[in-house]
Amino acid sequence: MTRKEHRASVDTRSVWAGEKEYRVHGATQVPVVHSVSYGYDDMDHWFYVATGKEEGHIYGRNTNPTVQSFEDKVKDLEGAKAATSFSTGMAAISNALATFLVPGNRVVSIKDTYGGTNKIFDEFLPKLNIDVTLCETGNHEEMEAEVRKGCDILYLETPTNPTVKITDIERMVKVAHEVGALVFVDNTFATPILQNPLDYGVDLVIHSATKFLGGHADALGGVVCSNDEELVEKIYHYREINGASLDPMAAYLLLRGMKTLHLRIKQQCESADKIARFLQQHDKVEAVFYPGLENHPNHDIAKKQMRDFGGMLSFAVKGEMDAVRQFLPRLEYANRAANLGAVETTVGPARTTSHIENTPEERAALGIPEGLVRYSVGIENVDDLIADLKQALSYINYTDN
Ligand SMILES: *Cc1c(COP(=O)(O)O)cnc(C)c1O
Repeated sequence: MTRKEHRASVDTRSVWAGEKEYRVHGATQVPVVHSVSYGYDDMDHWFYVATGKEEGHIYGRNTNPTVQSFEDKVKDLEGAKAATSFSTGMAAISNALATFLVPGNRVVSIKDTYGGTNKIFDEFLPKLNIDVTLCETGNHEEMEAEVRKGCDILYLETPTNPTVKITDIERMVKVAHEVGALVFVDNTFATPILQNPLDYGVDLVIHSATKFLGGHADALGGVVCSNDEELVEKIYHYREINGASLDPMAAYLLLRGMKTLHLRIKQQCESADKIARFLQQHDKVEAVFYPGLENHPNHDIAKKQMRDFGGMLSFAVKGEMDAVRQFLPRLEYANRAANLGAVETTVGPARTTSHIENTPEERAALGIPEGLVRYSVGIENVDDLIADLKQALSYINYTDN
């Protein structure tokens, strides 16, 4: 193999991709360019850049070099042809939907999308006379039947939040493309290290970069990418006008975080598997949701389309919220917070985190027990995490007297 033919592994590309061409003055790191605007002395050059005929930057809402470097890294890791970024994951999702949908259109999705996404489907799209049908997550026959009735966008998220259900991407792309629908996949939980939906013909991949991509819970961001450059161009145009642009400092933090993405994901997968198996045999635990477990209903699909099973799991303890109140505050090595995908283990009841936007009735309909705990595995030593869970769970039903 010649040097040119060798494509570096995703580990190497996590470190290097998207950076070199944005460095200046020999610096080995991409600079944070805070400048809002870019000056031109040559009136013709300015005009050509402003009209997209020549390369360059005009105004920070449109483009920024630090932001572009981040976009290039994601694009490379997803194996995409184009990417554009946003101030948050929700901005990425809402802008991508708003770019293409018009009154009278129909969206088919699943009941288990991220809480904010679910709100867009339940509350905002119907107001614009866009029909949204949400199928039982994992019921592929129902999804196929709904798509065949007519569909403009099939919106998927796999694995889902918080019960980590899996949808067969390849199977759903096939039926969606038969009826001419676009397929969007929220790949936040899997990350490009574990799953590349574009390989299965998906039209648009979406990430909340706030989570695993950044990995340090210190920057908000969102990104979309595709093999269809025109599709991304349309979304970029919508975003540059609507203004949900990614801040350069956040872009830098996300870019820096992504250099260790492969290492973090490797550790988080390994630890999540051990923790899921520990919880499964614990007598205070009612149920464990992790796609790596052989008894997970979608284990085979996960095995087919993912390289490993991810760093997210959830579990229900016996005794519901009363038991959660007893044990969750006792965890030493976990932030009790509404976030996930960070280097620190992060936990929270689903009713307070991913599905805070939903009513108890809505959560019940989504199959989310009130006592469900979402556990985002950090990069701590797994034996320490298991010991910590063990001591915390021992406080269930514990009384001082
Ligand atoms: C957090 C999250 C989002 C929303 O991202 P923000 O950056 O918080 O706006 C979307 N999808 C999934 C799967 C998420 O976990």
